[in-house]
Amino acid sequence: MKGTTTLILGGGFGGLAAAYTLRSLIPSDHRITMIDKSYSFHVGAAKTWVMLGDKTLEEVTRKRRQLTPQGVEFVEAKVEAINLALGEVQTTKGMLKGDFIIIGLGADVNMSAVPGLQEAAHTFYTLDGAVRLRQTLKDFSGGDVVFLIPRTPFKCPPAPYEAALLLQDLFNKRGIQGKAQIHFYTIEPLPMPTAGPETGAFVRGLLEDAGISYRPLHKVVRVDASEKRIHFENGNSTGYDLLIAVPPHESPRVVREAGLTNESGWVPVNPKTMAVSQGQASIPVYAVGDVTSVSLPGRFKPDVPLVLPKAGVFAASQGVVVARQIAGRITGEAASGEFEGKGFCYIETGGGKAVKGEGSFFDLPHPHMNRRDPDGVQYNDKVRWVHQWLEGSFSELLKE
Ligand SMILES: Cc1cc2nc3c(=O)[nH]c(=O)nc-3n(C[C@H](O)[C@H](O)[C@H](O)COP(=O)(O)OP(=O)(O)OC[C@H]3O[C@@H](n4cnc5c(N)ncnc54)[C@H](O)[C@@H]3O)c2cc1C
Repeated sequence: MKGTTTLILGGGFGGLAAAYTLRSLIPSDHRITMIDKSYSFHVGAAKTWVMLGDKTLEEVTRKRRQLTPQGVEFVEAKVEAINLALGEVQTTKGMLKGDFIIIGLGADVNMSAVPGLQEAAHTFYTLDGAVRLRQTLKDFSGGDVVFLIPRTPFKCPPAPYEAALLLQDLFNKRGIQGKAQIHFYTIEPLPMPTAGPETGAFVRGLLEDAGISYRPLHKVVRVDASEKRIHFENGNSTGYDLLIAVPPHESPRVVREAGLTNESGWVPVNPKTMAVSQGQASIPVYAVGDVTSVSLPGRFKPDVPLVLPKAGVFAASQGVVVARQIAGRITGEAASGEFEGKGFCYIETGGGKAVKGEGSFFDLPHPHMNRRDPDGVQYNDKVRWVHQWLEGSFSELLKE
């Protein structure tokens, strides 16, 4: 093929990985255009550091333009419509036409999906939210802190557990552990259910060892901000002095309006190639990262199907796979490498320690996860990984 244009919608983990890899695989007369509405890039894994006051907003963000690989055009614009039949993308800076489209628009968060949550809850899931929570925590001298996971799926399933452990660590350092009590309420049956019962029990053990109570299978129906009370579907309710919630997630409106989502609310894809399997497209369309729903072949319970967790590491390796698929079509050579469902995540446990869990999610009969006990080496590994993203060290991050 000659002189093609690949449009990459979204310049997050998936979009940047796809842009970097594709640029290295195809000749320069093929255009790559990455479109993102936001001028700055940040790493989700650093949001707890902002919440705790360990890092400033500036320290965990970078100009997206600076991270855009050489030879890739960056358009700072909002994607307003995707016309699959014509291969066109309407943006706030005009219409773009592509021969290939990669959708990496991530997940939107929507606190108003649960009545009363918006008025009542803090969150560290957004950077603004983490900055606001930092101020509140500065003045917090004691009371009941409730961590709430109201809906699934959500980004980085270990993140809320990590945040609770780090907050407990902060309270211990301040000497207010006797006055501040952390309680965890979640809709999930156990922590990180896709990683399996053994990992779930391990994380639950970390919480309980830290003195954090854990109440699974609690689906919130509404929050009463004036009474500071959370009401659950099972009839239970609980009060709080400080409520910290994971906001409900949804796919971006533009993706739903393009007919790209199925009943899950997310974009179904071929789990190995990330080719989009929904909608009537005239050109090859792929999706990567949080916006997708990737079905897993294995199960822990016969009647409970599993989908891949939403995480930056998966978005990035999917971006690499899609770049290779597109490069194969352009050069006429067979695409090398399929997505293998492998990735890792960190859980900081406080005191400069972390656990790195390495997962193989396409394994049968069910996903498999390896981990060691928390230590400083794994914490340093997380710090290095975050910095590599902020520095755009893609050759290091994306090496096999
Ligand atoms: C607290 C927290 C901790 C986390 N920790 C980890 C971790 O330790 N490890 C890990 O792997 N992952 C972690 N994650 C998850 C990780 O951040 C996400 O999974 C990852 O960012 C997904 O990458 P993505 O490319 O799919 O989406 P994103 O990185 O969210 O990128 C999507 C991009 O699309 C843009 N966009 C959206 N809509 C439009 C539009 N209409 N027009 C133009 N642009 C648009 C957005 O501005 C954004 O830049 C964490 C997340 C959080 C919140």
